[in-house]
Amino acid sequence: MGTGIYVHVPFCRSICPYCDFTVALSDPAQFGALASAILQEAELRAPNLVPSTLYFGGGTPTELPGELLSRLVRGLARAAAGLEVTVEANPESVTAEGMRRLREAGVTRVSLGVQSADPGLLRTLGRGHTLEGARDAYRAIREAGIPTVNVDLMFGLPGQDPSRWEASLDELLSWEPDHLSAYALELNPAVPMARALASGRLRALPDEAGEAQYSRLCARARAAGLEHYEVSNFARPGARSEHNQAYWSGRAYVGLGPGAHSFRESERAWNVRRYREYIRRIQSGESALEGREDLSAGQRLLERIFLGLRTASGVVFGELPSGDREAVAEAARAWAPRQNLEWVALGADRMSFTEAGFWYSQGLTADFIAGVETAAPPTSISTGGSFREN
Ligand code: SF4
Repeated sequence: MGTGIYVHVPFCRSICPYCDFTVALSDPAQFGALASAILQEAELRAPNLVPSTLYFGGGTPTELPGELLSRLVRGLARAAAGLEVTVEANPESVTAEGMRRLREAGVTRVSLGVQSADPGLLRTLGRGHTLEGARDAYRAIREAGIPTVNVDLMFGLPGQDPSRWEASLDELLSWEPDHLSAYALELNPAVPMARALASGRLRALPDEAGEAQYSRLCARARAAGLEHYEVSNFARPGARSEHNQAYWSGRAYVGLGPGAHSFRESERAWNVRRYREYIRRIQSGESALEGREDLSAGQRLLERIFLGLRTASGVVFGELPSGDREAVAEAARAWAPRQNLEWVALGADRMSFTEAGFWYSQGLTADFIAGVETAAPPTSISTGGSFREN
């Protein structure tokens, strides 16, 4: 089991009103300094690590010029053979030349943030691209020969009636992407779009509409030959994200760049969020780490269950720590028969949610975890783990 590398590039050309990631307006004068700091941080923290996967997220990694981003890819890949290297991109910063450079540097996967094919909804989302721009970007990625392309899509958006959702699905699936990630809009109350909804300037969709859209998404993705392998992710056979699968399996990763999180055995750590402070610390030879926490065995177990239940494979009892397997299997045998059997599948070696159950997975998982805590010895299980993705 290897260790992945996650690299956070915080820059975006504009800040979307629904975003609460670690982001900053693009600052071209700092691009070179940020790239150098990331390479330096890798040397300090993981000098001999040959990563099992390499993932550039953000922000918008493709805000960095192709030459700089390629330097980062080469420097961090450390000539690992057959490495999955993913770069997140937004249409407005994709160029044919930039994609060609990335392909030559070893990038195997590009994840394109399209979000919607509806011109009005792209404006509501404050996106910096048009539908035509997204089509051009997708074509440029394909023509550069990037082997695997993911497109990101959002649903549950204010004003997104069924016909507008169907039109976005039609458009994106007609591109024949290898991978589709689709997320329901979820807002931190502090972001501008949440305030617009609270004040009535935008009208939220009712919950039932989001569920109907999710159900339509699942049916359309299936008809397009995409396997639904995680709550929000679909892939053609052989095109699943190795990096994200490793993350959902609880494997170690090193996070580089401002605000990046790292995870290893029982330790979670995170870097300072502000990029100027990040660069300053690295340039002065200081650590960029801002905080760390040790997870108890119980917290780690709950996280494994939580992440496992997001995937179609579910939580596989035999992959849990040996001391906990039987307690979790026992809790599943007691809990699952009391649930809607169209949502929960219990096998001899695992428990998973069905596609219909995925929509309810947050509530189902919380309820199951409460059952595990009751069933397992109190010294082994404790709550309080924070479950988050990069
Ligand atoms: S492009 Fe993505 S990361 Fe950047 S502001 Fe918009 S949602 Fe956030």
